[in-house]
Formats: sequence, C-alpha cells, structure tokens
Amino acid sequence: MNTITGKTYLVGLLGQPVNHSLSPIMHNAAYEEMGLDWCYLAMPCDKNNLEKATKALRYLNCKGLNITIPHKQEVLKACNKLTEIANDIQAVNTLIPEKNNQWIGANTDVEGFLTPLKNHNLKDKNVIVMGCGGSARAVVMGLNSLNIRKVTIISRNDNSLDVFIKSMSNLLSKKNIFIKGINSKELNVLPYIEEADLIVNTTPIGMNSKSTKQENIPLGRKTWDCLHNKTILYDLIYNPRPTNWLKIGKQKNCFTIDGLDMLVAQGACSIKLWSGFKDVPVQIMKSSAEKHLMD
Ligand code: NAP
Repeated sequence: MNTITGKTYLVGLLGQPVNHSLSPIMHNAAYEEMGLDWCYLAMPCDKNNLEKATKALRYLNCKGLNITIPHKQEVLKACNKLTEIANDIQAVNTLIPEKNNQWIGANTDVEGFLTPLKNHNLKDKNVIVMGCGGSARAVVMGLNSLNIRKVTIISRNDNSLDVFIKSMSNLLSKKNIFIKGINSKELNVLPYIEEADLIVNTTPIGMNSKSTKQENIPLGRKTWDCLHNKTILYDLIYNPRPTNWLKIGKQKNCFTIDGLDMLVAQGACSIKLWSGFKDVPVQIMKSSAEKHLMD
C-alpha cells in the first residue's frame, strides 16, 4: 500500500455494516497500481448521520464515496444532482465531488451487475429478483437492457414492494417487460422458482455467514428442492464465496455467479468517475480481493 502522507486524499465507503467489505482491499490495490495518492476507508454510518457525514466529508475534500447497504436510497437526500441512471432508478452507490462542496449521485451497480452476464443470452427469459432494496433497483435496470420477458420480485414487505413495483414498472413497460411483485409470506413461490431462467439474490441473507442454518438461505433451504438445472443463480453477496444458497445451486448443477465480478466492475466504474482515468486495473482489484477472501 502507498505510504499515507500529508498529501494523501481520502476516498471511502459509507454503510452499515461495512466490516465485511472487500472494497478497501481492491480500491487501495488499484490506487497503488495507478499511482494515485489516495486512501480508501470503510466507515460505518447509520441512517441518522448519513446526510451530516456526507456533507462533512465533502468539506474535508474527500475525492469520492461509495454508498452501500442500507443507504442507497436514503443518500439521494445528500445529492445536489443525479446522473440519468441514478435518477431513473432512484438509487445511488457512488458520490462524485461537485463544485461548491456538493455531491453528484451516480449508480455504477447497473454496469457492475451486467458484467458477469455478458456471455448469457437472456432475451425473453423469466427472471426472479429476491429483495427490493437499493441494489434490486440497479438489477432491474440492468435486466431492462437484456430484453427479458418477465421479472418477478419476491419480498417480505408489502409497502416497500408496492413502492418498488410502481417506480420500476414505467421503465420496464417501454420494453414490454412484465413485472410482478409477490410477498413470500403470503404466496407460494415454488411455481415461480420452477419456471425461472435466472434468480438473483439482492437480500443480505447469507452475508458474512459460514453457518448452514436455514435462516442464512433466502426463502429457506426447502424452497430450493424444486430448482431446475437450467436456472442460473446469481448472488450479489461475495463474502462468503460461495454463499450457502449458491452451494445448493452447485449441488443441483445450476450455473452460479457470485457477487465478486459485480463488486470489481462497479468499483472500477466508480474509480473512472472519480479520477477521469479510462483504464483501471480490474484484474489487480479482483486478485487482491480473492487473495483476501482466502486468507
Ligand atoms: P438494502 O437496500 O438494504 O435492501 C435489502 C433488501 O433485502 C430489502 O428489500 C430488504 O427488505 C431485504 N431483506 C433484508 N433482510 C431480509 C431478510 N432477513 N429476509 C428477507 N428480506 C430481507 O440493501 P442493498 O444495498 O440492496 O444490498 C443488498 C445486498 O447486496 C447486500 O448483501 C450487499 O452487500 C449486496 N450487494 C453487493 C454488490 C456487489 O457489488 N456484489 C452490490 C450491491 C449490493 P426490507 O425492505 O423488508 O428490509
């Protein structure tokens, strides 16, 4: 890592929790390779302090911030401008410094999510997204560009599900993509799982857990007995790697994707936005994160 001096700039991550995050490892590895005198720190921050913290960090000349669980929508209040994608999905994972101590809100999760899917043809396919928080918005925006047929959002909370479906359906209807929300506590999800070509986990269930307890698997272990091997499972979680849910998918001979490629791709996009550099050493970012996961 670069030596931190009086000239080193701060860059970082705000969320709650952040102690699982691999972002400091991969960002600092990239900065060293790129010759950027920057230091990336993960800073735990709760909802009540988010606006104050982002404002203070801007006054301290912070070069850029990433925003993670659960603040990707809450942070909209701290942004003076939004990029088109961030505005379309009303979710922000990257803050870019703007003049007059202001922040521009951007979303690099959309591009990150699409990166490991680029060799898969999902045209006219059925997709399930579990969870309807900040990253689910980026996932649905990404799916919108893949010309899928139908997306079913499975969530536990009627209120947030309603808001999600209303705000995303306009976007999807322009491409004739059908969206439906189902509450996992009220409806039988098995028929949806049986017909799905791709299932994406955007809940934190399974994060940072090495246990095989039922509660660490989205919708519970039994739900996945009906899984077909044509179905691709994509877990946004990258720690542990694989999650218990992806292990079930592997046992069922499904193609599985964990969250590491997405993490690296969204992080690389953030660095481009902060630095203006076109080339970012993604392989170095990925290998530093993989090495850390194995230690
Ligand atoms: P978020 O905005 O807080 O959304 C989480 C969603 O999961 C919400 O819909 C929430 O429902 C639901 N949920 C939370 N706990 C649940 C539980 N026990 N049972 C059922 N549903 C539950 O978080 P986020 O920013 O979208 O992040 C979600 C996950 O994705 C995190 O693990 C994060 O690390 C990961 N992620 C990875 C990447 C990557 O680059 N690989 C990028 C983005 C996110 P309620 O509204 O009912 O609470």
